[in-house]
Amino acid sequence: MKRDGACISLWQAGMSDYKGQQKNNIANKYFDVVIVGGGITGITTGLLLQKAGKTVLVAEARNIGFGTTGGTTAHLNSFMEVHFTQLIKNFGEDNARLVAKACRQSMDLIKKNIEDYGIDCGYGEVAGYIYAQDEKQVKELDDIFEGFNKVGAGVSPSTSIPVRIPFVRAIEIPGQAQFHPTRYIYALAKEFEKAGGVLMENCRVTAVEENEILAISSSQGTIRSKNLVYATHIPPGVNLLHFRCAPYRSYVIAAKLKNESDYPQGLAYDMQDPYHYFRTQEVDGQFYLIAGGEDHKTAHEENTEACFTRLEAYVKKFYEIEEIAFRWSSQYFNPVDGLAYIGHLPGHPQNMFVATGYGGIGMTNSHIAAMTLTDIIVRGKSEFEDLFSPNRLKPVAGFNNFVKEAADVVGNLIGGVFSREKLQSIAEIAPGEARVVKYEGHAIALYKDENGELHAVSPACTHIKCTVGWNAAEKSWDCPCHGSRFSYDGTVLTAPARKDLEIIQLEELVEH
Ligand SMILES: Cc1cc2nc3c(=O)[nH]c(=O)nc-3n(C[C@H](O)[C@H](O)[C@H](O)COP(=O)(O)OP(=O)(O)OC[C@H]3O[C@@H](n4cnc5c(N)ncnc54)[C@H](O)[C@@H]3O)c2cc1C
Repeated sequence: MKRDGACISLWQAGMSDYKGQQKNNIANKYFDVVIVGGGITGITTGLLLQKAGKTVLVAEARNIGFGTTGGTTAHLNSFMEVHFTQLIKNFGEDNARLVAKACRQSMDLIKKNIEDYGIDCGYGEVAGYIYAQDEKQVKELDDIFEGFNKVGAGVSPSTSIPVRIPFVRAIEIPGQAQFHPTRYIYALAKEFEKAGGVLMENCRVTAVEENEILAISSSQGTIRSKNLVYATHIPPGVNLLHFRCAPYRSYVIAAKLKNESDYPQGLAYDMQDPYHYFRTQEVDGQFYLIAGGEDHKTAHEENTEACFTRLEAYVKKFYEIEEIAFRWSSQYFNPVDGLAYIGHLPGHPQNMFVATGYGGIGMTNSHIAAMTLTDIIVRGKSEFEDLFSPNRLKPVAGFNNFVKEAADVVGNLIGGVFSREKLQSIAEIAPGEARVVKYEGHAIALYKDENGELHAVSPACTHIKCTVGWNAAEKSWDCPCHGSRFSYDGTVLTAPARKDLEIIQLEELVEH
């Protein structure tokens, strides 16, 4: 199983490629719904819609689990990252209660899927803990505690936490859970196909002709559909939602511990900024401590390797580690007002939908999306429709700053040809390294592979021309503005970009 980064995640290990049903040619076929993206959102939504009697195609550009679902940490939470206290301020108490209800229903759906389909994915119900480590955090924690209780989510103070880390005050949130995410979506994908759904891997959607019946261009031909759902984590193309969702990267290690009794029995979160998160997963008889943190805005950290070093050093302060078996990083999108955007895609016909802006709560939000979108498409209405509507216009504190932050766009087009030798000497990069260099007034993104071969691409992101930065840990060119990502040779890894970076053909070059 492949993922959109060079590091191998715990969820890729031992996962062979998904073996789906034999496919017929899909060109010119008609579906009730085409879902773009085969992560947890696309697969879950596809299954619910197919079971509800719709004919559904899931089109995945690479392989299922290729996106952030393959690089998650799979805490299953009944709360959002922006706590209920803040949601009450932003949306009112009734809406915050509705968020709590949506989270609960989403958790129930995950459990029901696992029970109904007998999925072996290491699912376990555990409590969650948030802990404060100084007096300032204690005050914040008291607010968080009050917010949970206002929406009836029933949390309690706790005198212990499941991690070996000093704390001052803690709360316990019952009814959380954990699982192995790619085993879960592989099993759901099988059920989707069994129910008559069509799952196409290596099928990139490139354009949509918008009409009552949509003509969807893909790398496997044009498909016709009554409805389309972008389950691509962030919608492709240029959309208002790109200015309401900020891309962030988070780092994870999965470690084997010297003492079996040290593995945390629960989910744990500190209150630092960025915060650390911990849990345990057993995979094929082996326990792993999964620890995450060191988050930063995408492409705003020059030394991504150092993020792993800091995370490892932090965990080693508290745990005796036998081996760091896996380490990886991945990307998420923070919504400006704290809630995901699920529903009609702004600026497009009523039959086009989207689910994005999950922050770090994508397991829960993906199932909220599956329920909400299924209700809208099948029954014309969902009780969560207005709450998560991408068209909501809610001026909240911080929005202007967010727009400023998200809009650091720079134009950067390349023309002409360049000498390989000159670029090589300017760049002075070692094998495995990359750099954006200035040459004769142009910016050029160079990567030297392990065999010493130089790869040159334009650093102008094909989304809206921001300049990409090198992510050394995952060996990708990442865009700081809206989170598009490209491999070293310019191939698109992550939306919103639809097109590869412009390749600069060095072998045909002449001396300048
Ligand atoms: C390090 C990290 C830890 C996290 N931990 C947690 C956690 O503990 N709990 C939690 O709830 N959430 C967590 N999250 C968030 C969660 O993992 C994500 O929100 C979730 O996986 C997103 O799923 P998705 O299906 O929407 O998107 P993705 O999994 O990214 O899937 C999108 C898919 O769309 C495909 N695609 C893109 N463009 C096209 C196209 N044009 N045509 C066809 N296909 C296309 C991609 O190839 C990809 O496979 C974490 C995130 C990170 C980064």
